[in-house]
Amino acid sequence: MIKELMSDLRVKALMTKIFMQGVQISPEFLNILLKNEDTAVKILEDILKKLSTMENKPLIITPEFISDLSRKEEIDVKNLAEEITIVFEPTEHILRTPLSKDFREYFISRYKKLRKILLSERYDARGAINIQDLSNKKTMEALENKIKIICIVSEKRAGKNMITFNVEDLTGEITVLVTAKNAELLQKAQNIIPNEVICVEGILIDERKMLATDILQPEIPKQVNNVYEKGNGPDIYAVLISDLHIGSRFFMRYAFNKFLLWLNGLFGDAKLKSFAKRIKYVVIAGDIVDGIGIYPGQEKELAIKDLKKQYEVAAYYLSQIPQHIKIIIVPGNHDATRQALPSTTLYKEYAAPLYKLSNVIIMGDPAYIRLHKSLFLVTHGKSLDDIMVNIANLKYETPAKAMIELLKRRHLAPVYGGRTLIAPEEEDLMVIEKIPNVFHAGHVHTFEYEYYKGVTVVNSGTWQEQTEYMRNMGIHPNKAKAVLINLNNNSVQAVINFEEELECGEDQAV
Ligand code: FE
Ligand code: ZN
Repeated sequence: MIKELMSDLRVKALMTKIFMQGVQISPEFLNILLKNEDTAVKILEDILKKLSTMENKPLIITPEFISDLSRKEEIDVKNLAEEITIVFEPTEHILRTPLSKDFREYFISRYKKLRKILLSERYDARGAINIQDLSNKKTMEALENKIKIICIVSEKRAGKNMITFNVEDLTGEITVLVTAKNAELLQKAQNIIPNEVICVEGILIDERKMLATDILQPEIPKQVNNVYEKGNGPDIYAVLISDLHIGSRFFMRYAFNKFLLWLNGLFGDAKLKSFAKRIKYVVIAGDIVDGIGIYPGQEKELAIKDLKKQYEVAAYYLSQIPQHIKIIIVPGNHDATRQALPSTTLYKEYAAPLYKLSNVIIMGDPAYIRLHKSLFLVTHGKSLDDIMVNIANLKYETPAKAMIELLKRRHLAPVYGGRTLIAPEEEDLMVIEKIPNVFHAGHVHTFEYEYYKGVTVVNSGTWQEQTEYMRNMGIHPNKAKAVLINLNNNSVQAVINFEEELECGEDQAV
C-alpha cells in the first residue's frame, strides 16, 4: 500500500520536501495518508505551507499536527445553522404502549433483537440452530454434534474449575459447561452475566448438556469512522457534561459559573477562548437537579428542598448559556422522570422552567441524537452500578471501560434484578441497535474517556462535591470537567477543568 501511495510522483516529491526540512513522519500520520489517498497531496501541501511559516519546526508530523492545521480557519458558530435530528427517544413509546404484566415479552424482545444483531453483524454466529433441534438425531449426526446456539443466560454458577450456565432460546433450554481445560474461554465466561444474550459454540454431550468451545457476545464491528480521520467540515464542538445536582449543598456553583462565563467567551486564556468560539452544543447526560428523597438522609444535603424550585434555579443557570448554543438534556435518576428504564423526558409539571428556554431540547433516556454528521447515544448510565458489581476488574475510577462492556453486550441495562429498575415494556428499548459515533453517560461521578472500535466513549464526571453518601460508597468524584468533542471527527478535543482551585487565565486544557 505504501508503495502505491509513493508511486504518485506528487506525493513522493512533497514527502521529500518535508524530509529535507529535517522533519520526520509518524507511522500514525502515514496511516492517515494511506486511508486518504485522494486528498494526500492536499494534506501534504498544507503541511508544507504550515512548515514554511514555522520558526521551530516539529521533529515529527503526528495526526495532531494536521488537526491543528484546520483549527486555524475561523468559523462563526453564532450564524451557523444547527443540524439536529432526534433519531430516537423513548417518551412517546412509553406513553403510548401499556406495560406488560410480567417481563416475559420484554425478555423475548431482548432476545429477538440481540439474536438479529448476532446473526446480521457476526459472520461467526451464522449457522446457529434452535435448542429444540438438538434432540433431532439426524441434524446432530450431520453436524457431528458440533453446534452453535444463540441464547439468553438464565443462570450462572461459577465454581473454581468450571462455570455452568443454564441458557434458553425461544424453543428450549440447555446447560452449557465451560471447563478449566480452556483457560481463555473460562476467563471469557467469567464476564458473562445473567440475562445477557450470547452465541455459544460447542459440542453436544447429551440432549441437556453441551461443552462450550467458544462464546461470542454481540459486540460492535469496528467503525470505519476513525477518530483520527478528519471529516470535511469545519471544527465545531459539542461540550459533554453531566450530574450537575443543582439544589444540592454540594453543587459547585463557582465552578459552574466559570463554565458559563467560558461559554460566553469571558473566561480562560486564548486557547480556551478559541475553543469556546466553536461550541454549538452542550449535552447534559442527566441529574440536572439533586431531586428530593432519592436516598435516605438526602434532605440534610439539600440547599433547595423543593423540586420545582430546583428546576427554577437550574433554568436560571442554563439560561446564561448563549442562545446560539443548543442544550440537549437527558434525565437522570435524581431528575423528575420515570425511575424505571427507559425513562420519559422530564415531567413538565416540575421542569417547566427548563421547557421555557428556547434553546433547550429535552429527551428521555436512552436518546439517539444526530448533531451534524455525528450520532450521539446519550444515557444517564444508571446500570453502570450493576455492571461494576457483576464484572470483574471494573472500577468506579474507570467508568468508560464499564460503558464499553455495555457496547459489547449491545445493551444499556443488561443486568436485571440489581439496582437498575427496568420497566416491563413490550419492546426492549435498551438494546443498542444503532452504533453511535459518541457514547455519553454520567451517573457514577467519575470521569474517563476511551476510544473503542471507532466509538468515542465518555463518562463526563460531575459538578457536585463529594457528599457524605458518596463518601460512604467510597466514590471519589471527578469534578467540574467539560469534555469537548470535535464533531468533525468525533474525537475528544480537550477536557477542561473548572475546579475552584484553578485560577483564571491558567492553561486548563489537557
Ligand atoms: Fe448523579
Ligand atoms: Zn445518577
